[in-house]
Amino acid sequence: MADKEYDVVVIGAGSGGYIAAIRAGQLGLSVACIEANSYADPRGEPRPGGTCLNVGCIPSKALLASSHLYDEIVHGTAKHGIVAENAAVDIQKMVERKDAVVTKMTKGIEYLFKKNKVDFLKARAKLAGKTGELYVVELSDATATTKIFAKNIIIASGSKPRQLSGVVIDNDVICDNVGALDFTEIPKRLCIVGAGVIGLELGSVWRRLGSEVTLIDSMANFLPSADADVAKEMLKSMTRQGLKFDLGVTIEQILPEPEGATVSYRDRDGKSVHLPVEKVIVAIGRVPATEGLNLEAIGLQIDERGYIPVDERCRTVLPHIFAIGDVVRGPMLAHKASEEGVMVCEIIAGQAGHVNYDAIPFVIYTSPEAAWVGKTEQELTRAGRSFKAGKFPFSANGRALGHGETEGFVKILADAASDRVLGVHIVNSAASEMIGEATMALEFQASSEDIGRICHAHPTLYEAVREAALDVEGRALNI
Ligand code: FAD
Repeated sequence: MADKEYDVVVIGAGSGGYIAAIRAGQLGLSVACIEANSYADPRGEPRPGGTCLNVGCIPSKALLASSHLYDEIVHGTAKHGIVAENAAVDIQKMVERKDAVVTKMTKGIEYLFKKNKVDFLKARAKLAGKTGELYVVELSDATATTKIFAKNIIIASGSKPRQLSGVVIDNDVICDNVGALDFTEIPKRLCIVGAGVIGLELGSVWRRLGSEVTLIDSMANFLPSADADVAKEMLKSMTRQGLKFDLGVTIEQILPEPEGATVSYRDRDGKSVHLPVEKVIVAIGRVPATEGLNLEAIGLQIDERGYIPVDERCRTVLPHIFAIGDVVRGPMLAHKASEEGVMVCEIIAGQAGHVNYDAIPFVIYTSPEAAWVGKTEQELTRAGRSFKAGKFPFSANGRALGHGETEGFVKILADAASDRVLGVHIVNSAASEMIGEATMALEFQASSEDIGRICHAHPTLYEAVREAALDVEGRALNI
């Protein structure tokens, strides 16, 4: 590939980068996508998929599915009159299955790269200035350093776990997301530092498999960016399932011990707590990853929080350099990164390209799941916006009763004057799927009346979305 010239060079093959490369190929642009990280590739070669496919969304959901199945067999079957005794976990096999899912997905990307004529370059990329109209990208692998040239560059270098000061991650006892997805034994006691989305999902996996899980967080507010009703319902449900929470704490130290570690902190009342555990997972958020890119070689700088500054179309201060995904502002979500990748390639190809940042769904894949799109009630109140709310509980939904999963609700917020839907918030075992209808409603600027007038199949969980929409005008039919 040395000295080759491309219309588009994408740095990073995660959710943002690999989708951008495929879209560029579809649009007839010559494109290379560069990836440095081999993750757990058995050949030790860089592989595509980034955080999401290798050590994030996909492996965590594979383990959530396995642990949910086990939990259902142990605790969920009896109420259906099914006797299932002596269920046991083979953790090795569970982790192998997760790895097989990841491998299948990453191989799928390599196939898609070939199909769309994307050159997949396994190397570390570094920006190396400009020659004429072309940007120079230096590629280094174990054996050589070469150069390629680009008319346009898309930086999709992603993010890395935020470090807890003074704590060394060994990914054996004290883990980030990478080690947390590869435990070889079920820890008797597990402490998760960070009660956010990743902490809750990983905590659910190991709690279901039998660990005693304590989540600690320096914030006293649980899920502060979720609608307050969602946060309240989720805290109630997670606590009922056996997850322990200590919120508003001050973490003092995490000390490795011969058999695990001791987590020391002050609780919200100032009382000193020493928690002996076998494993610790640090999940206190993620920060943009830009080290080694040599941004200064082309005159780019990161902002005070480490992000690459971009406009609403992901263009940096340089017209032919774009940045997308976790390395730029906005929610650190795989689908947001992918949408930005598509938008940028369409712009490069001379098309319109857009991302509607007001209609990006959020999901927490616990049990029940929580999902939302648009504004929360707190956001609307803070903005002084007049709104109406409709709510419908799953305890009044026939399908949920049949499933035996009646926790949660659908809540719809609509503009008081125009009735336009401003936010939809769902807590339910299938919230991640139901949020699709709500996202479509926001994208098409639907009113709550529009949703209320759509025929919903019966019996389904998403009838609750229609009922919540009807409740905005106080005319839900089944409650
Ligand atoms: P990444 O996926 O991080 O990809 C960036 C890639 O660039 C990496 O592979 C990196 O090696 C490569 N790279 C960086 N610098 C260079 C260089 N100089 N040269 C070559 N390559 C380079 N999001 C969701 O939407 N849903 C979920 O359910 C979800 N679950 C998650 C669970 C966990 C445990 C974690 C950690 C994250 C989860 N996320 C989830 C977040 C999601 O993974 C990220 O938002 C998404 O991966 C961001 O995509 P990206 O392309 O910006 O970056």
